[in-house]
Amino acid sequence: MSDLNTQAVARYKNNFLREVEERVEEGNMVKMCMQCGVCAGSCPFGPHWQHSPQKIFMMIRAGKREEVLSSDSMWMCTSCYNCIVRCPRKLPITHIMHGLANYAHRLNLAAKGQPTRDVARLFWNNLMKTGRINELTFSLGLYFKDGFIQGIKNSLAMQAAGLGLLKAKRLNPMEIFGGHKCKEKSGIHRMIAKAREIEDRRRGLA
Ligand code: SF4
Ligand code: SF4
Repeated sequence: MSDLNTQAVARYKNNFLREVEERVEEGNMVKMCMQCGVCAGSCPFGPHWQHSPQKIFMMIRAGKREEVLSSDSMWMCTSCYNCIVRCPRKLPITHIMHGLANYAHRLNLAAKGQPTRDVARLFWNNLMKTGRINELTFSLGLYFKDGFIQGIKNSLAMQAAGLGLLKAKRLNPMEIFGGHKCKEKSGIHRMIAKAREIEDRRRGLA
């Protein structure tokens, strides 16, 4: 169990709703859900989710901490905002879904091998190296994340898209040597560290 998770379990005991209210973005709105099911019926990804937003809110109130935080459901949210537009109680469902995913990630409880999470991590790590995303190393990192053989297979499967990007000058092979970067990388790192410090303090995670 990560330190942050041990600390959260001790602090909130069996009150998962309070934990969500205090530590998840817009989590204080979860209690407003009246379980009408409109969000579940409106979500284009609905049939592919293990738990719809409506069910996740019900599970939070029922104290199903492990099931919610280790679920890959909230990682499926595409931010289409259908649910927010239609919710009669005006819950910021999209933001809560992303907030739950982020919180599960911080506690190291998030679903392992979840594709959205893997892409987000690769993207973030790539971006943080130079302050700008390097499309070539990001794509290669994605294709080769499950090993060399799988990487070759993925690259061959995507060769038409890759060649199209090269032709359109959207992919530069020379980026393999580092590529474009921000002038003051350390300044960006300091800014991100400060933003994280402020956010963690606000959410009681510091
Ligand atoms: S639409 Fe709103 S009130 Fe209805 S179940 Fe979804 S979150 Fe709850
Ligand atoms: S914003 Fe997310 S949860 Fe809401 S309807 Fe779209 S995909 Fe579903």
